[in-house]
Amino acid sequence: MFVKTVETKNQQRNSDDRRWPGIEIRNIKKAVEHPDIRGEQHYTIRSGQNQKEVKNAYFDFGFALVARIVSFAHRFSEIRDTMNILGIETSCDETSGAVLCNGNVRSNVVSSQLCHTSFGGVVPELASREHERLIVSIVDAAVTEANITKNDLDVIAATAGPGLIGAVMVGLCFAQGLAYALDVPFVPVNHIEAHIFSPFINEGSGHTAPEGAYVSLTVSGGHTLLSVVAPDLSYKVIGRTLDDAAGEAFDKTGKMLGLPYPAGPVIDKLAEKGDPNFHLFPRALTSQSQSSKSWHGNFDFSFSGLKTSVLTWLQKQSPEFIERHKADIAASIQAAIVGVLVEKSIAAARSRNVMAVSIAGGVSANSSLRKAMKEACDKEGIALHLPSVTYSTDNAAMIATLAGLKLSRGMKAERNYNVAPYASFAAAAKKA
Ligand code: ADP
Ligand code: MG
Repeated sequence: MFVKTVETKNQQRNSDDRRWPGIEIRNIKKAVEHPDIRGEQHYTIRSGQNQKEVKNAYFDFGFALVARIVSFAHRFSEIRDTMNILGIETSCDETSGAVLCNGNVRSNVVSSQLCHTSFGGVVPELASREHERLIVSIVDAAVTEANITKNDLDVIAATAGPGLIGAVMVGLCFAQGLAYALDVPFVPVNHIEAHIFSPFINEGSGHTAPEGAYVSLTVSGGHTLLSVVAPDLSYKVIGRTLDDAAGEAFDKTGKMLGLPYPAGPVIDKLAEKGDPNFHLFPRALTSQSQSSKSWHGNFDFSFSGLKTSVLTWLQKQSPEFIERHKADIAASIQAAIVGVLVEKSIAAARSRNVMAVSIAGGVSANSSLRKAMKEACDKEGIALHLPSVTYSTDNAAMIATLAGLKLSRGMKAERNYNVAPYASFAAAAKKA
């Protein structure tokens, strides 16, 4: 296909052609009759979305409308009825593709890499290679499951960070290549932001974001953040971990107990049969901590002390004792982590006068956290928003959803990624 863009702005009207105001007919003629392209079957001309007369003129010339190009600033609401968004997520050890049609999740294919299990943590280079091996089939599966073809896609979105650099690059480059090939726009998505809005992923459940501001607790393997989210979806981070993330605290203390990676879900299961009061592990920067005077209004977290405390305490116990009380120890570790997360979230909601709290990220799958946060919120008369467990850990549905939310609210996607083909496309789209 030969592509030729004809500028239609700031051009003089051709006095002979009053049917087509505001359009330089000579330019179209020049394009169509240009010796380089004479005899070609296809010409692509782009016009502004609302330039009705201009579009009619193109129809008169025999052009057919084949695609809508969405610039970064384009409002989703204008094209909601035709919007199919492909989301791609490869920031860590999940390869995922999802399709969002008209704001609803149609498919969400997630492959969790098993190649890291024997190492007790994610090996970055292995993760990148595994993403590369799987990405084509995962995206194919997501598109097929959504009952559409790649040509029906209107927007491609992918995690642009934060994450393991090699892993992010696989998804980001694949997504931009696909967007370029399909001639549709690309939206880079911040992975943590996508987690923040994951409680509002729509599967037809009608679950919508609170009307007012709310406090969001994002707890994953790599991050622990407390933010206040405003109704316009802007958010302010008011606290974060000073060292380990909550998921990391689960994984590392679980490893000390001899549990496989990732230990979070294993501790969750084991703790069901254990006594959470078996041993009191420290809860840093809370009302229970040594320096409790300074905890008020401090929404930061610290989990490295818990890790040291578990290690030194375990070193003093016999292997038989640890084996016999594994469930009790797991429940006690979990109680320490969950206690901190709940106390800080409720304190943040109180201090900011908001009436809703949400939890997101891998650790939001934890059954004890869900239960304790619900009880605390009920006591305070605060609404709690939780993602379904499927959307707690990394998934592409949240990437596609955030891309859709951004476009629907007229938000501009981030521009700080730097890949040539679509950087130049974005600049061109802005001009049109
Ligand atoms: P990341 O993006 O950092 O990889 P994810 O959002 O995928 O993180 O979450 C993974 C983390 O969530 C791991 O640390 C894992 O142990 C933890 N996790 C998953 N399920 C549970 C659970 N049921 N209880 C506690 N932690 C959990
Ligand atoms: Mg994550």
